[in-house]
Amino acid sequence: MNELIRRDFPILGRMVEGKPLCYLDNAATSQRPKKVVDAIVRYYLETNANVHRGVYKLSQEATDAFESVRSKVVRFLGAASEREIVFTKGTTEAINLIASSFGESNVGAADVIAVTRMEHHANFVPWQQLAKRKGARFEIIELTSDLRLDPKEVDRVLALKPKILAVSLLSNVTGVTNPVASLASRFKMVGTTIVVDAAQGIAHGEVELSRLGPIDFLAFSAHKLCGPTGVGVLWGRESVLSRMPPYQVGGNMITHVGDLDSEWNELPHKFEAGTPDIAGVIGLGAAIDYIETQGRTRIQEYEDRITAYVLERIVAIPGLRLLGPKDPHHRAPIFSVAIDGVHAHDLATFLDMRGISVRAGHHCAHPLMLRLGLPATCRASFSFYNTLEEADQLIEALMNAPQFFRRKNA
Ligand code: PLP
Repeated sequence: MNELIRRDFPILGRMVEGKPLCYLDNAATSQRPKKVVDAIVRYYLETNANVHRGVYKLSQEATDAFESVRSKVVRFLGAASEREIVFTKGTTEAINLIASSFGESNVGAADVIAVTRMEHHANFVPWQQLAKRKGARFEIIELTSDLRLDPKEVDRVLALKPKILAVSLLSNVTGVTNPVASLASRFKMVGTTIVVDAAQGIAHGEVELSRLGPIDFLAFSAHKLCGPTGVGVLWGRESVLSRMPPYQVGGNMITHVGDLDSEWNELPHKFEAGTPDIAGVIGLGAAIDYIETQGRTRIQEYEDRITAYVLERIVAIPGLRLLGPKDPHHRAPIFSVAIDGVHAHDLATFLDMRGISVRAGHHCAHPLMLRLGLPATCRASFSFYNTLEEADQLIEALMNAPQFFRRKNA
């Protein structure tokens, strides 16, 4: 990847505290290329009207622009049809939709719901609360010492024949990638419905449904993929979605309302109550176009290079602890680090003073923090527009950090 790509992202040219911005908080949210912002502005300036309702030209244009993004998402994921693509506010809303609609009507007190220890709260709490409401058993697949899914734990939970398995493609804290295709094949054999959180996965590598095994649901947010905030996608297998009750009710998702009962619209509109974030969806379409122009394989190859480059250097820094596996094949370019006796926020501030924007905190992963015995970690996460020079900048700062804090704390 090269300088030309960085020019597509005006924000990457700005200075922070007199230093060029070195943005390494992409796991929280990515930056947007100008083309995405332009598409949103153009929609408001030239095509703005509500969708699915008007018979007039402008509304039809807005509807076409909106629905064309649904077709784009079908191609992007390799889904079977537009009926399988539901626009949501983001990953969180998509998973809540599944837990409420599918969960409420399919889970009972005799059932088991399984998640993993590395899930983001968005793919943990909706299942925990569903289990609580239904009196179902909630099982957590524990991790190995290098924070990958423990195969013995996978076997243990598989033997319980869970009704639902909720698993992420990769961890937002450690960057660990999960073998979703093989998990899906094995759990499907015992009748499990498989929900995949692709909030992070979507930004790192090709997310092709055909390569993920027999999963039933997948959710992602546009803002991790160079798109706008407030928009996401729920993909669901049509045979499953069609048997689910609506999540919310109101306008757009209805065909007939009588005094005592109502009839629901067909898929996917049954799950899209109210006026959607039309401009946001159009921005997502522009983001997908942008990513496809760069080439998903090319992006993945470049990110693999960054991962290997940073990993090799980070693990060699004395006094710095990298959380998660040391093998680049099991990781995306997300690195959580810790220095004994130093709070993650202090380390993040140390990096910020050197112009490097990283995140410190629990990363909405309390269950994992509990396992780590840490209140927080300091996380640097890369995207395809980050450079090897920025990686060097991070590594140099991290090399100086242990000594800096030793002197400071002496
Ligand atoms: N799942 C994972 C793995 C995430 O990293 C995030 C956000 O950081 C989410 C779910 C929630 O995404 P959103 O806040 O866009 O709904």
